[in-house]
Amino acid sequence: MLSPVRTLEFVLTFKFDMGLNIMKSDITVFKTIFALLISFSMISIASAGPKDFDRGDAALPSFITGGQSSSKPAKKETKKESKKASKKSKKKEAQVENHEFHKADWDYRDPSGWGSIKEDYHLCKNGTRQSPIDITSTKPARLSHISFNYRKGAKTIVNNGHTIQVDMHKGNYIVVSGKRYELLQFHFHTPSEHTVDGKPADMVAHFVHKASDGELAVVGVLFKACQENNTISQIWRRIPVKAGQKKKMSRKINVLNMLPKNRGYYMYSGSLTTPPCTEGVKWMVLKNTVPVSDAQVKTFADLIDNNARPVQEKYHRTVLTRN
Ligand SMILES: [Zn+2]
Repeated sequence: MLSPVRTLEFVLTFKFDMGLNIMKSDITVFKTIFALLISFSMISIASAGPKDFDRGDAALPSFITGGQSSSKPAKKETKKESKKASKKSKKKEAQVENHEFHKADWDYRDPSGWGSIKEDYHLCKNGTRQSPIDITSTKPARLSHISFNYRKGAKTIVNNGHTIQVDMHKGNYIVVSGKRYELLQFHFHTPSEHTVDGKPADMVAHFVHKASDGELAVVGVLFKACQENNTISQIWRRIPVKAGQKKKMSRKINVLNMLPKNRGYYMYSGSLTTPPCTEGVKWMVLKNTVPVSDAQVKTFADLIDNNARPVQEKYHRTVLTRN
């Protein structure tokens, strides 16, 4: 078999030998070159090993190749590897679910005693900007609206003995008055910790955010027991029943669906509602409630019981409000 270069050389020599004025033979010459080149390349493809093509696929981005190679031997390899990977991830998940649980030194039997447990918790009894509070006599103000930038998906769900907490991936945030706060996690209390005109809601979700300067901002979403909440159903499906248990969360969950449509809110400066009761927390409690069913509240209450810190003295704080 002649190499394509040799074939071309041979044909061109022939063309020049015959003279440039022979146009008909010109066409024949090009037809011959074309036919020879085609047949040569067919033979090359047939004799090339599948590996040559794997390399080609590997160079393509995975969204084109679908993350898989086109040749059979490579597919077998991929299956083996993915089996190994899934075994590994199952093992990892099991480790996560059985991770050791360190019981905290405080609980909800005596919240008024938290400040005496240790010096680190002194704000729980000496603080003057503590949360939660009873929201009354609010002052309308020109507050910035809260811009929610939450994406689909959540990382893990943990039962830490005090609440059910969903930890988030990076990249979910709110913007308030031009300042960005990253969503770290959200968790639940029943009944709600903040009360409005003396009345608690049936359940509350606290969305805990942190700005790059360390400032914490918590958004409270109040739940009213009246009808089933689909997002809560999705979350409860993965609920860890034992304290210390942690599970992976679904990528499908849309946290935004847990917020009311109208996002008017109350704002004041408060604290964490659990030890060490750190102050300087920007509290934003949404005015409008979202539905939840009695059964859904019960599912939570059966696992966690009452986990609401009682309302704290307001001192001279003003609660601002925006519709
Ligand atoms: Zn909370």
